[in-house]
Amino acid sequence: MTREEVRGAFVNPDPTAKKIRLPAWFDDVPWHQIDYLGWRDLRAPQLAYLVTEADDQALGVLLRQAPNRAELESRAVMCDLCRSSRRFNEVSRFTARRPSRDKRERLNVLGLLLCTDLDCAVKVSAKPIRQGFGLEDGDRVEERREGLRARTVAFIRSVADTERITQHRG
Ligand SMILES: [Zn+2]
Repeated sequence: MTREEVRGAFVNPDPTAKKIRLPAWFDDVPWHQIDYLGWRDLRAPQLAYLVTEADDQALGVLLRQAPNRAELESRAVMCDLCRSSRRFNEVSRFTARRPSRDKRERLNVLGLLLCTDLDCAVKVSAKPIRQGFGLEDGDRVEERREGLRARTVAFIRSVADTERITQHRG
């Protein structure tokens, strides 16, 4: 994906932000090893950017990290995208504002639990601690990566859904 494709991929860009700041390491992104490109804006660390590809099109979502809730503490939490169980501080709640021109719908947000460091790709590619029967290691990683990719695309599409309706109306 090019810088322009990534910048133009967001289904819910922040209308007050001027330009999406790409990660400094953009030129070194190992595209074949990741299922989404995730990064933070160091000047706005509560914001997270997630971009993936579906049907040869870049698809991105702007997320805002919510404060960790007390009831999640001290137990394992599962990331909604990679389905890894991790310690509570390694998974955070993020929200995505759904795009809407209607002011009443500005608070229409979708939430998800996501690896705090946006490192799902590391988790799905890691060797499982307990070996299961049946699938070989490589197949398992491939299967987990496919699941991760499919859930990422599905989440971004569900955020975008309202925009399509608004656009048709307009
Ligand atoms: Zn994850």
